[in-house]
Amino acid sequence: MFDSAYAQSLGQEAYELLEDLFPLPRSLTGNGVRRTLDRLEDFITLRRFEIPTGTEIFDWVIPNEWNLNEATLYGPDGEVVVSTKDTNLHVVGYSEPVSLELPLEELRPHIHTRAETPDAIPYITSYYKRAWGFCMSQNMADALAPGNYRVEIDTVLEPGSMTLADCVLPGESEEEILFNECSCHPSMANDNLSSIVVLTLVLRELAKRPNRHYTIRGIFAPETLGVIAYLHEKGAEFSDKTRAGITASCVGARGEQGTLEISRDGAAEVDKLTEHLLKSAEIPHRIIDFVPIGSDERQYSSPGFNLPVASLMRTYYYDWVQYHTSDDNLDAVTPESLGQMAEIFLRLVDAFEMNRTWVRTDGGFCEPQLGKRGLYPSTGSVKGTGDIVLNTMWALNLADGKHDTLAMAERAGIPIWEMYEVLKPLVEGGMITEAS
Ligand code: ZN
Repeated sequence: MFDSAYAQSLGQEAYELLEDLFPLPRSLTGNGVRRTLDRLEDFITLRRFEIPTGTEIFDWVIPNEWNLNEATLYGPDGEVVVSTKDTNLHVVGYSEPVSLELPLEELRPHIHTRAETPDAIPYITSYYKRAWGFCMSQNMADALAPGNYRVEIDTVLEPGSMTLADCVLPGESEEEILFNECSCHPSMANDNLSSIVVLTLVLRELAKRPNRHYTIRGIFAPETLGVIAYLHEKGAEFSDKTRAGITASCVGARGEQGTLEISRDGAAEVDKLTEHLLKSAEIPHRIIDFVPIGSDERQYSSPGFNLPVASLMRTYYYDWVQYHTSDDNLDAVTPESLGQMAEIFLRLVDAFEMNRTWVRTDGGFCEPQLGKRGLYPSTGSVKGTGDIVLNTMWALNLADGKHDTLAMAERAGIPIWEMYEVLKPLVEGGMITEAS
């Protein structure tokens, strides 16, 4: 498991940022997203795009902008039953403004609960159907006293815009590695604030690297509709250049393993490299197949774009009992989890950079003499040298213009970063070179 001091400090920083951003009322549109991006700009440089509501984006239309001031439900005695002062989850996202009094029987259809987790408040939205409602725990709903209730939902649902952002870090190559994180969820820590804070710090760290080979594109867009809008507006700018992509989702959960949802193709470089990385770092993980009802990878890999985009999580969200409830709170995530995931994403970029295809410069006729180049240990009995020789032989044998560093590492049974160290003296000694 990656757990370096570097990862620990990134994790601590990520957790503090997450605490800051947790209360903001994010939604599909509105000032919660803008204020979140404002804070991220303390760490990274963003390009921001405001797409007017009513804009057609492929088969969709951006709905009115929604902003929440406050929503409160008062009980028969005038007491506050629930208020968004306590958590944004108490109001159905995109609730229209309402001020009325009504009996409990008429209020009931506007109350949303989740019976399976009776103490938790569920996360509910209604983007396209005009509606209003409150979310509360099943136990609270069951205990509501009969009588008249007063509903005060102070929201603004009017034409405006949807806010998208990206952070593009140019590399030596125009080929891109894409990271996606969704920016629309209100006060839940793992889904998906964890991805926002982890990838913000990953992008900040990558921005410091002087010799990036690949261009890095981090996309901050509301889930589904935001990514559809981003692809509509910017897809032509990058889709031909995307070498690989990862959507980060639920990357902060306490004590959970890694889950890789492979790309639609299932055998893309991103699938193989990520699996290799998890395996080599001995991170407990599982691999699941692509599903077209997952997160934003399904937009990137829709037939028209067909980008190789996988998804990396800790627990798979549909298996996580706290998913889309108030139990996904600041206690559900840890600095350690956030730091480990930050390191995995950084190591994944390293792995892409290391993963080139190699060819022998001498045509590859038989094995070259390592001894005269100082690459063969003169005393053959030193413990451990056998592996170095064996790994070097694998590299030389597979430098045929068809195998990449990952393939060499897998055949030799070592991590890609170790194989890359084996390759370095062979490249410096002029014995192999990158295949064109
Ligand atoms: Zn979600």
